[in-house]
Amino acid sequence: MEGKELYQNLLGLNEPWTVERVDLDMAKLHVDVHVAHPAGTRFACPDCAASCTVYDHLAERVWRHLDSCQFLTYLHARPPRISCPEHGVRQVGLPWAEQGSRFTHLFEVLAIELLQAANVKRAAQILRISWDQAWHLMERAVLRGRAAKGAAVPRQIGIDEKAIAKGHQYMTLVCDRQAATVEYVGEGRTQESLAAYFAAYSREQLAGIEAISLDMWPAYISGCKAHVPQAQEKMVFDRFHIMQHVGNGVDRVRKEEHKTLLQQGDETLKRSKYLWLYSAENMPAAARARFDQIKHGNLKTARAWALKESLRGMWAYQSLGWAKRFWKRWYFWATHSRLPPMIEKAKLVARHLPNILTYFNHRITNAVAEGLNSKIATVQKRACGFRNRDNFKIAIYFHCGGLDLYPASVTHRKVC
Ligand SMILES: [Zn+2]
Repeated sequence: MEGKELYQNLLGLNEPWTVERVDLDMAKLHVDVHVAHPAGTRFACPDCAASCTVYDHLAERVWRHLDSCQFLTYLHARPPRISCPEHGVRQVGLPWAEQGSRFTHLFEVLAIELLQAANVKRAAQILRISWDQAWHLMERAVLRGRAAKGAAVPRQIGIDEKAIAKGHQYMTLVCDRQAATVEYVGEGRTQESLAAYFAAYSREQLAGIEAISLDMWPAYISGCKAHVPQAQEKMVFDRFHIMQHVGNGVDRVRKEEHKTLLQQGDETLKRSKYLWLYSAENMPAAARARFDQIKHGNLKTARAWALKESLRGMWAYQSLGWAKRFWKRWYFWATHSRLPPMIEKAKLVARHLPNILTYFNHRITNAVAEGLNSKIATVQKRACGFRNRDNFKIAIYFHCGGLDLYPASVTHRKVC
């Protein structure tokens, strides 16, 4: 097979495009493939698909293609412009690359697969492109995937914050609970951070959101109330976050009691912090014996722990009615415990109770958002820091957005 014909097949070129010339540069280890169309060819107008005559050609452009063995391979062509009676002078679409890209579709496919498997630096090395070019390919893939995704609103969303650096810098994540994908990454964790997500949708679309899982963070609560119709019935405060707050109450009781005991020379609570944070069923076997011993002593901390563990049982109820009855008993018990940190936590939970009890309608937690949050932590670690915040966002959408990242014309076509 001759070089021209070989490349014609390798590039998958169809009429009217043909390989005109293949130049092999042994010194630079380059292959340059020149592609052209016959004179008199008519092309479709990109706007109306009418068959039009060529108006002129732009200057020659070059696209990086998959390597031919160790040779860097470039495709050269002069993009034609047509003159449409209705739309005027337009550049025609080229079958091997997207408009504005300096890489062929097949090169982009390979790049996307490498970027999914390796970090940007390594992928750039393998592809023999610059770090910036690799980033640009990633960004294009994300923009393409997000455009192809359309504007449907997820039925269930999860909202979570993500700490991104030391010094209290945060981002806001909105995820699709059912697809387990990141839908939106916003700056900060204010009401505005969230408003920017909702702003992309109409009020009718937002009415289609059925349930929202979130932490009791005031900015997110007011953000949902301001934008999602009937947010009050849809928001569910995550049970694990609530248990975390109550667990902090237990820890404060322990700290205070430990201090008092130490003054009397009693070391019962020494190094016991983590024992009280476990749930009864997650207690490691090694800690169990000691824990059983101190749990039954007459300790304030043991009473606080029992309160915490009892509350955990509330979410196991099948019906809202029984959960409410349980809550009343628990609240009485907690507020009469004479343990100020627990009384404070009981009141905190009470203030948020309506949107804790919505759990019994929706049965959702923030586990999906939290899972994505840790996946993002891996993305962050793997990239060894990002040059800027926008790069980080792109990487999150690339790895956690559930997007179809491939160029439309080669979707699902694998490169071997
Ligand atoms: Zn036209």
